[in-house]
Amino acid sequence: MAKVLIIGAGGVGGVVAHKCAQARDVFDDVLLVSRTLSRCEKLQREIAEVQGREIRIGQVDADDVAATTRLLERERPAVVINVALPYQDLPIMDACLAAGVDYLDTANYEPPDVAKFEYKWQWAYRERFRERGIMAVLGSGFDPGVTNVYCAHAQKHLFDSIRHVDILDCNGGSHGKAFATNFNPEINIREITARGRYWERGEWKETDPLSVSAVFDYPGVGERKSFLLYHEELESLALNLRGLERIRFWMTFGEAYLKHLEVLGNVGMTRIDPVLYEGHPVVPIKFLKELLPDPSSLAAGYTGKTSIGCLIEGVKDGKPRKVFIYNICDHAACYREVRAQAVSYTTGVPAVTGAVMMVTGQWPKQPGVWNMEELDPDPFLADVARRGLPWVVEERAVAGS
Ligand code: NDP
Repeated sequence: MAKVLIIGAGGVGGVVAHKCAQARDVFDDVLLVSRTLSRCEKLQREIAEVQGREIRIGQVDADDVAATTRLLERERPAVVINVALPYQDLPIMDACLAAGVDYLDTANYEPPDVAKFEYKWQWAYRERFRERGIMAVLGSGFDPGVTNVYCAHAQKHLFDSIRHVDILDCNGGSHGKAFATNFNPEINIREITARGRYWERGEWKETDPLSVSAVFDYPGVGERKSFLLYHEELESLALNLRGLERIRFWMTFGEAYLKHLEVLGNVGMTRIDPVLYEGHPVVPIKFLKELLPDPSSLAAGYTGKTSIGCLIEGVKDGKPRKVFIYNICDHAACYREVRAQAVSYTTGVPAVTGAVMMVTGQWPKQPGVWNMEELDPDPFLADVARRGLPWVVEERAVAGS
């Protein structure tokens, strides 16, 4: 039995706390901390009511490395699940190094003043984590996360070599709001308004934001227009998949969402640099975040499904093969189980599975910093399916065969 410390009490943090509370056979002590204590108090009450279990809560500003280190030294958890924002990744990793505690997150570090996410900052911790004898697992959400593990499964069991991967992410649900984002608005809008990027034959190719689209047929949802984006798992998968020639990421957006985003961009509301307003510096995107619905508030009444997977083409036993490995997740079912919508659920459940892998030794402890596809996909996929995210492998026709 293990103690888990969850940092961040937003949409994803709520799911992680509910699911850790459900995992009575693994976690005998669940501690949820965040910057704003009232959010932890609300989740504590909700978890007592829905899961019938008391979790402990606390307050910490995770940008303060010394404060987080003191918390870790006092509590000595088996693992920290970081579901605060990407800005907190490095300070929390520093605290884990100081206290000697294993670490897991769902999104890679971004500097607040540059809309650019790359693994280089977190990969730079590899040697220090190895020397300290502790393990960090990066990106254990859905994408990144489960999508990396689907690729690892394909590499281990389904293909001799993989040529093409297209990661397809569809939210076919409806929350009834004119404009809202399904996870932290600031992080979400920074990601979507960035230039597109994909990897082909050893080179990164750039596209204008949202300028490349294609229609894909998503199981459980149907055909949807999807836009090419840069997404962080492309960086590690391009390195870790043998024989890979091309990897891209696609996400669906509705017309109304894109129109709002265009207008907000045109008037400067998505800017990440401070502007002076009546003598006070204001970062427009941070102000916009305060006006938009909190992602966790979208859960009640959300209908429809997410459908996310990896379309993988390659060679098996000398013959071309193409498969789609995917999960379908229903917003309303997530709400009934953990009071969350499916985007938070599909991120939070894999974070808990990753932590379970670490504390139960199903991923034997390997000091260092790891991306998901570097670890054994088999126990992870069995656990994540049991915990609420079953997966399907569908054979697809190969063009020309
Ligand atoms: P929210 O904005 O809903 O929640 C973030 C939480 O982190 C809030 O409770 C916030 O506290 C807390 N927080 C922020 N700064 C600090 C700090 N300095 N110290 C302590 N706590 C802090 O975001 P989501 O729950 O939607 O997303 C959480 C993470 O999950 C993000 O990193 C996001 O990028 C990632 N994600 C990953 C996905 C994947 O598939 N891999 C998909 C979706 C999200 P406060 O209430 O005070 O603001």
